[in-house]
Amino acid sequence: MTASPDVAHDAPKAQETPPPSATLGGDSKRSIEQITLLMFITVPFVALIAAIPLAWGWGVSWLDLALMVIMYYIGCHGITIGFHRYFTHGSFKAKRPLRIALAIAGSLAVEGPLVRWVADHRKHHKFSDAEGDPHSPWRYGETVPALMKGLWWAHIAWMFDEEQTPQQKYAPDLIKDSAVRTISRQFVVWTVVSLLLPAVIGGLVTWSWQGAATAFFWASLVRVALLHHVTWSINSICHAVGKRPFKSRDRSGNVWWLAVLSCGESWHNLHHADPTCARHGVMKGQLDSSARIIRWFEKLGWAYDVRWPSPDRIDSRRKEAPAEAA
Ligand SMILES: [Zn+2]
Ligand SMILES: [Zn+2]
Repeated sequence: MTASPDVAHDAPKAQETPPPSATLGGDSKRSIEQITLLMFITVPFVALIAAIPLAWGWGVSWLDLALMVIMYYIGCHGITIGFHRYFTHGSFKAKRPLRIALAIAGSLAVEGPLVRWVADHRKHHKFSDAEGDPHSPWRYGETVPALMKGLWWAHIAWMFDEEQTPQQKYAPDLIKDSAVRTISRQFVVWTVVSLLLPAVIGGLVTWSWQGAATAFFWASLVRVALLHHVTWSINSICHAVGKRPFKSRDRSGNVWWLAVLSCGESWHNLHHADPTCARHGVMKGQLDSSARIIRWFEKLGWAYDVRWPSPDRIDSRRKEAPAEAA
């Protein structure tokens, strides 16, 4: 019953873009850019981890951390399994209750309304790293100042761009579904729920305002900021560094150290090589919690027609030299 999002299936084919290598600078110049990018992503993480022991005993508790982790992974999987693999790319079909649950779980991540998210992401695949990509960090060029400006753009500023992705053009299948349209329109409601829920639980469990306040800080504010940062890292880090064993016409790479935090989305080179595949970490040892959960949904009978990768399909997307050193 779910409309198949055909728009999402236009995997790399149109050659609107020059090959990425044509725009790259020399190797040394590139590595300075990559170090800048890595600093920009990792410094906030390190600062955050350093803050936890400082606040221990008065400003953070086990309850706060547990709520933070649970809320983080509900929202993260809502985005990766729901908004991304299911609604954007149709990598499996879902029974109605699962479809609705995924729409709500993804909305709790506070990354904008569902229909808009999907429209932007389909456009990202169509134009990845070229003119038309809604959130490329390479928008302003290749120098360090241009990259700093581009990072700000890829993180926040693009959402306020006047030129919005036309949703009728990119997400007509979602607009047709009235429940999905409603959940998407109720974005503000889900944001409030997402932010208040940890505070309410923290307050009730500890029976104190202090408990509500610290749960709100860690499990609402920090959690949302962290999840945004990780999601956006897929758009920046995974389009700048990482291994590229598969054929794609952009700069997408596989970045192992983001796999756990990104729920398996950082195997981004495979994703751009085969956008409708339900599993992104297709090679041995590549952790992909989203794929694991989709498998559970399939066993429960909630998900079906899952596009699992076959060895043939994976091989056909490898770069010419088949012997990829493990
Ligand atoms: Zn991408
Ligand atoms: Zn995608």
